Amino acid sequence: MNVIEATGLGKRYGSTWALRECSLAIPPGHVVALVGPNGAGKTTLLNLAVGLTAPSAGTVTVLGGTPAGSPAAREGIAFVAQDAPLHKNLSVADMLHLTRNLNLHFDQGYAEARLGELAIPLDRKAGKLSGGQQAQLALTLALSRRPQLLVLDEPMASLDPLARHDFMATVMAAVADDGVSVVLSSHALAELERVADYLVILSNGSVQVAGEVDDLLACHRVFSGPDDEANRYAEHLDVVHALHSKAQTHLLIRTDGSTNPVPPGWKARQISLEELALAYLREPDAASLPGPSRARQLEPTEVAR
Ligand code: ATP
Repeated sequence: MNVIEATGLGKRYGSTWALRECSLAIPPGHVVALVGPNGAGKTTLLNLAVGLTAPSAGTVTVLGGTPAGSPAAREGIAFVAQDAPLHKNLSVADMLHLTRNLNLHFDQGYAEARLGELAIPLDRKAGKLSGGQQAQLALTLALSRRPQLLVLDEPMASLDPLARHDFMATVMAAVADDGVSVVLSSHALAELERVADYLVILSNGSVQVAGEVDDLLACHRVFSGPDDEANRYAEHLDVVHALHSKAQTHLLIRTDGSTNPVPPGWKARQISLEELALAYLREPDAASLPGPSRARQLEPTEVAR
């Protein structure tokens, strides 16, 4: 049962494809980081998955084959869009009331307990809450529907570090307590590293990388060695991206799981999720699957000395 499954999914606005030939199968029980540069198609993909917009091509199903946007799909998914949209003139209690009336299942006890823990007053107008409190209210409303899948589109963009931390703590508590699957779009790579165990990178409207974080980290390494040898060794490696600093070249390579021999005088180390994502973001044409070495003249990105 995949929580989101897309096949040849595309969305076109006029002559522009916001998403194209997107095929993806996200298994349940993960916190999925959806990453990509501005305009890569993240919001478009999430809007298609939650049924806010219809595909121009291909199909998308959720929660084990249920068509996106169908009543059954809407019942099992909760979505928090960018900037936590709320009715600013309604009180928190009114927002609870409204959400309860619009949904078959709404756990009022959970909502009130959660807002109590967060010290968010029920009689306060939503528009008078701080940005962090508004985000927490939107998240609480979403989780009170007891969804199987929680979809979050850049929910923390305007929050300070403490509010972001608290927001993610609420998400992770729902994952631990209720087994909710989460798909989270964000540009905050360091934060995603702490919470995500599945990574999807979108580039130019297509899926560039998708897989469990542990698997992806296991098949990538950084080799570091002298600049003047880099091109010679790179010919034999599947290089995703090269960085240059202090007469050293750092090659982020894909391995097929077996250990690539480290050239004499070179060092090898494991990579972090942030490094992996940055490397692919810098190389939008690099695909995630292991393949034959791509012999090419390296043009390393210069890093601060
Ligand atoms: P960001 O990180 O900036 O939020 P994103 O990855 O979420 O970007 P989308 O918002 O999905 O990207 O946009 C993908 C592409 O589709 C962009 O080129 C955008 O300009 C275009 N696009 C999105 N929505 C519309 C729309 N309603 N009408 C026309 N073009 C659109």
